[in-house]
Formats: sequence, structure tokens, C-alpha cells
Amino acid sequence: MHHSIGGKETPGVSSRTAPVWNPATGEHQADVLLAEPADVDTAVRAARAALPEWADTSVMRRSRLMFAFRNLVEKHVDELARIVSFEHGKVLEDARAEVVRGIEVIDFACGIPQLLKGEYSDQVSTEIDLFSFRQPLGVCAGITPFNFPAMVPLWMHPIAIATGNTFVLKPSERDPSVCNLIAQLYADAGLPDGVFNLVHGDKVTVDAILDHPDVAAVSFVGSTPIARYVHERATANGKRVQALGGAKNHAVVLPDADLDRAADHLAAAAYGSAGQRCMAISVAVAVGDVAVPLVEHLRKKARAIKVGPGMEAGSEMGPIVTPDALARIRGYIASGVEAGADLVVDGRQLDVQGDGFFVGPTLFDRVTPEMHVYRDEIFGPVLVVVRVGSLQEAIDLINDNEWANGTAIFTSSGRAARVFQRRVQVGMIGVNVPVPVPMAFYSFGGWKQSLFGAHHIHGPEGVAFYTRAKAVTARWPGDEDGSPDRGDLHFPTAV
Ligand code: NAD
Repeated sequence: MHHSIGGKETPGVSSRTAPVWNPATGEHQADVLLAEPADVDTAVRAARAALPEWADTSVMRRSRLMFAFRNLVEKHVDELARIVSFEHGKVLEDARAEVVRGIEVIDFACGIPQLLKGEYSDQVSTEIDLFSFRQPLGVCAGITPFNFPAMVPLWMHPIAIATGNTFVLKPSERDPSVCNLIAQLYADAGLPDGVFNLVHGDKVTVDAILDHPDVAAVSFVGSTPIARYVHERATANGKRVQALGGAKNHAVVLPDADLDRAADHLAAAAYGSAGQRCMAISVAVAVGDVAVPLVEHLRKKARAIKVGPGMEAGSEMGPIVTPDALARIRGYIASGVEAGADLVVDGRQLDVQGDGFFVGPTLFDRVTPEMHVYRDEIFGPVLVVVRVGSLQEAIDLINDNEWANGTAIFTSSGRAARVFQRRVQVGMIGVNVPVPVPMAFYSFGGWKQSLFGAHHIHGPEGVAFYTRAKAVTARWPGDEDGSPDRGDLHFPTAV
């Protein structure tokens, strides 16, 4: 898998590679090149060379380009989804859905003329007007995780490009190919060479981006330790940074919830995409006497899920992305047993033919906050149930957790939902909605260890992140201007 720099596929000077697996079969299906600092430099130079003309391109032309790109992505949804499913492992329908959610961000970026409208105040002082507008930052970079190889980069580059920046993307090396097709679709839509560039790579590549003096801003999405690192290193180098990290999302089930519905949605949110979603529910918080029937409902749902290759019709849950990730998840299941949690459904017993990286839906009950299966982000199909006595205890548990990406409550009480949404210290909240991912015209982001930096991603905060404001105070003196126009040494006030 080559880089795409200045509109051309190129190996650059890279010689190191990483394996790309087919997680459903265990086959080592391709190798991806890992960019060296010299490749990053070539990509940033291409982006810098394309910047003046692109930043000066009228906002209407940038918008039309986004429409053309959007239509091409829509035309290629099935092809993009197939690539995602082959390399990530998720089931085809789920891969399709991630591309569709990505297109929604391009839809939003098509409205950039409206989004970039500034403010104007007439006559703020005699014969003086004041107005503001926003301009692009320059060369922006995106560094993205494996779990949404199409959608997460699409959270970034359409908005960065529509606002007049040029872009260098470093996608995950585990499922990189879908971004090469995206680069091709940008070129087919007529995007000038160098506006969108793609470098594949690993830590060496990332560090070169973080240290490059011509990169103005970095958007990162990935695990918390790397998000923290990226934020620290890039801000130390004077860049604007938004770095979204990991998660441990809790769903609270109150005794007044519709139990079957809640369990159905919880199982879907815990086991969809094999739990490899930053908005997956990984902790069910059972309040009061709901615990016993909830666990029984969840047990049945977990057992009924059809696990198989993502490309196979009927599969509801696919494999894990790599052998290492599979080993990590199996290790966590063992650690939960050792710590004394009740293993209600053991995904290690799943038997899928072949050498794919499969582990089945796993359910633990009677988990306590000091156990690793509660404390750590497992990022696999493992749902743990923690029992608490009241809604307030549930809220305290969530607020004591270091992560704060998403959370949900299942209840039939509007009052309880309102108390929850006001008191819980989490960025995205679902009320009877287990995966509360905001639409593209809102912004997406967590709190605490789930986000480093001041800006959430896409939506209005995305536009704010990729632009900076100018305020202009203007006077045009003329004969008919009756106001005295002399320079005073005191600080100006409105007259
Ligand atoms: P990751 O942190 O391992 O990798 C993310 C990116 O960082 C990749 O491009 C990778 O090449 C790069 N990277 C990895 N190690 C690095 C290092 N030492 N130095 C510099 N760069 C490095 O994450 P992942 O395993 O690909 O993705 C899963 C994680 O992403 C989970 O923690 C999940 O919660 C998180 N995630 C968060 C969100 C969100 O919106 N908050 C969305 C999706 C995924």
C-alpha cells in the first residue's frame, strides 16, 4: 500500500512495512509502507505548495468541490465498505453504515459558505464599522485509529479542506487501504494536487508530523495514552491540537426501564463491531433489583449473536482486528475470572472454523471498580455488569471513572433522565439511546481522559478548530464625515 502525495501514488523513500491481516481468515493479506520523516516532509511540502491557491479559491468553488466529492463517495459506498470489512473485519452492513456516517460530514462541509459567514456591526462608533471573518490555519494533519478507518478520517479532512486548509492524513496502519480510494475520489472530484495527501505509517511517521514546523494543526483520534502524548508533543511544538482518546462507556439501567428493549440495545451496543467502537457500551450499571433479570436477558442476547466473517451474509459480529488484539481481549477475560467476577458468557469458548481472530460475546456479572475488566479499556466484545443501589450511586460511579466519552440511561422516568443528563460528567449522553453519536452538524467529543484539547470534532467546533478569526475595525473618512478625526493619545472609546 503506497502513500498518495501531491496527487500521485508513491512509495517515497519508505522501505519498512507492517502487515495488514484479513481478520476473518487470519491471512496476512498485504503490507503497508511505513513513511519515513523524509516522506512526511515531501507530503507537507506538497500541502504547503498547494495552500495559497486553495486558500484563495472562492468558498463557492470549495463547496461545489465538496458536493462532487460527496457524490463520488456515495457512488462508491459498497466498494469502500468492502475494503473496510476485509481489513477491519466488521460486518459489511456495519462497514456500510460507517461510510454513510462519514458522508454526513461531507454533507455538512458542503454547507461551508453558510458556516463561514462572519459577523458585521454597522456604526459601532461614529463612521466606524466592525466585522469579523475566519481564515484557514494552513497545513493540517490527521492521525486516525483502526476502528473506523473510513469514518474517523472523514470527521476531519472534509471540514479542514472546505475551510481552505490543505491536509496530510496518517491513517491506521492496520486497515489503511480505504483511504487510498478516498484520495482517488478527491482527485476524481477535481481537488487540486497537494490539497489532500496520504502517508501511511507508524510512530516514526506520527512523530515526524508532530515535529514538522509547517504543520499548523493536528487532529488525533485513538487510545488515551497516545492522545495524551500527541497533545503534549504537538502543543509543545506550537500547533493547535484536538486529541480524542479512549473510553469506558457506562449504560445505567433503572428498574423502571423496559427491560427487554434495554437488554436488546445494550447487547447491540456492547457487541456490535466486536466491541471495537469508542462509543461501545462496556459497562452495564444495574440499579437495584433490576440486576438479576437484566443479566438473564443479556445472557440470552449474547448467546444468540451470530459470529462469523464480516463478508458472510447473516454474520452479526465479525472478528477482532489483529492477533495481538485478540490475545489482549482473551487475557482480560482470564483476568476477570481471576479477580472473582462471575463469567456468565465466555467468548473464549466460541468455535469458528479457520484461523480468523474470533472471540465471542462475553458477559461478566458482579464486577467491582477495582477489577481490571472494569478499570481498563478492553476494546473487545466484553460487557461487565456492575450492581449499584441507586441512580446517585450510578452517577457517582460514572463520575469517578477517568474516561468520559459517552454514557446512556435506560428509564421510563423523564425526571430520572433529566437528573442524569445534568449531573453526569460525560461529553455525549443517550436517553434510551445506547450509542449517542451526535449527527455531523453537532460536534463529537468526550470529557476528561477521552479528549485532550479544547475542541470537539466535526460540526461547529470542527469549523472553529480549522479556522481562526480576524476582527476588522474600519473607518473610511470623507468630506461628509462630520466627526472630528484626530488622533488622541487616550485609549479609544465609542463616540
Ligand atoms: P492507537 O492509539 O493505537 O492508534 C491511533 C493512531 O496512533 C494510529 O494512527 C497509530 O498508528 C498511531 N500510534 C499508535 N501508537 C503510537 C505511538 N506510540 N506514537 C505515535 N503514534 C502512535 O488506537 P487504535 O488501537 O488504532 O484505536 C482504538 C482506540 O481509539 C481506542 O482506545 C478507542 O477508544 C479510540 N477511539 C476513540 C475515538 C473517540 O472519538 N474518542 C474514536 C475511535 C477510536
